[in-house]
Amino acid sequence: MARRFYVALVHHPVRGRDGGIITTSVTNLDVHDIARAARTYGAEHYFVITPIEAQRALVEHILGYWCEGDGARRVPERSEALSRVVPIESVEAAIAAARGEGPEPIVVTTAARSGFPVTGYAEARARLAAEPERPALLLFGTGYGLADELIARAEIHLAPIRGGGDYNHLAVRSAVAIILDRLFALEGDR
Ligand code: SAM
Repeated sequence: MARRFYVALVHHPVRGRDGGIITTSVTNLDVHDIARAARTYGAEHYFVITPIEAQRALVEHILGYWCEGDGARRVPERSEALSRVVPIESVEAAIAAARGEGPEPIVVTTAARSGFPVTGYAEARARLAAEPERPALLLFGTGYGLADELIARAEIHLAPIRGGGDYNHLAVRSAVAIILDRLFALEGDR
């Protein structure tokens, strides 16, 4: 059975510069680029999670242009990726949407920072493969990263991507692409 999985970009609850919990703003680039990566690797939906109604409306406005407006006519492959984007109000709502009428999703969290028990990528692939009927929901952060409470209650918290040097400030769009490739690339391509 093909693995059903979802990508989510969390704008709340995330950490601010001082470690407090904040709500970040949606960015156009994150909507577009993560939608394209999610579509490439076969995600069912890409949830853009924000409790702010006006921000969800902004995402709907972007989707309207690219899925139904001039954008859809000019660049249909963009519309194909963006048609899987779902603005949604909370992580709980995204979990419920991923669950649907089926089994509980496996929530997978990501972070650049250390300090949590982590699961390596080979083990994460094996754990996902062991329960193919359960969808996976991958949570990515904005601001200064996912709130600790999300990481603490995830079933799998992935090891940080490391580059070899001491600089570790990937854009979330880069982190999504790397992690999707590590988890969902065709086996022969790994
Ligand atoms: N405004 C920032 C940007 O440039 O995109 C957002 C930074 S946000 C903290 C980056 C998110 O990407 C993290 O919450 C995490 O989901 C993911 N990420 C970044 N670096 C990572 C790494 N080294 N390992 C795993 N995930 C990483």
